[in-house]
Amino acid sequence: MLQEDFITLQIQKQKNIALIAHDSKKQALIEWCEDNKDILKNHFLCGTGTTARMITEKTGLPVRGYNSGPLGGDQQIGAKIVEGKVDFVIFFSDPLAAQPHDPDVKALLRIAQVYDIPIANNKATADFMITSKFMDTEYEHKVMNFDKNIRDRAKTL
Ligand code: PGA
Repeated sequence: MLQEDFITLQIQKQKNIALIAHDSKKQALIEWCEDNKDILKNHFLCGTGTTARMITEKTGLPVRGYNSGPLGGDQQIGAKIVEGKVDFVIFFSDPLAAQPHDPDVKALLRIAQVYDIPIANNKATADFMITSKFMDTEYEHKVMNFDKNIRDRAKTL
């Protein structure tokens, strides 16, 4: 059967938002969550362990926590993107400090790119994303057809 190289997926109106902040950016992300609480409360929130806990403690928003980032939390969120269970990422990363889990951070950025997931690395991008008209609607996007990709590769390699 002929299949397209890309398939159309939908980011639902109610989004699955992952929240992550490196240590020097945690306060900034907490403040950003507080400022955008009225919007964020309409979506499903998750995050790396420490970030998630601190946001819940400081803002009252329910944030499902995965492992701490350096212990695999970024990879867990990356895996959720692959499974279609995270479709929007706010990641206040620190561009001025070396991270022990830098490969995991890069992997998360890469997998978000592969799956065409909106991902903000700083506050300005996060502000533009959270005020987008698509926050209130479904959003269709094209993602590589991985079934076809596997079939083609298995045939030709
Ligand atoms: P943390 O992880 O929320 O557990 O601090 C974030 C990160 O460093 O990626």
